[in-house]
Amino acid sequence: MFSGVSEVLCSRCGRDRGLAAPVEALAWVSERQGDRTTWLCPACARAHVRDIEGKLPEAYW
Ligand SMILES: [Zn+2]
Repeated sequence: MFSGVSEVLCSRCGRDRGLAAPVEALAWVSERQGDRTTWLCPACARAHVRDIEGKLPEAYW
């Protein structure tokens, strides 16, 4: 293993969780999709939630 580099990358922005500060790494969010696990960094996790809320029916009026 390379020190400081993990196999966990943010699925939105490609940030490497292994390069995040330990405290920040704890805030990463994992999502199960079938047999795969994808990860979102804290900033993208917040944006992702907003994406979901943006897809409420009102968005299609
Ligand atoms: Zn990200």
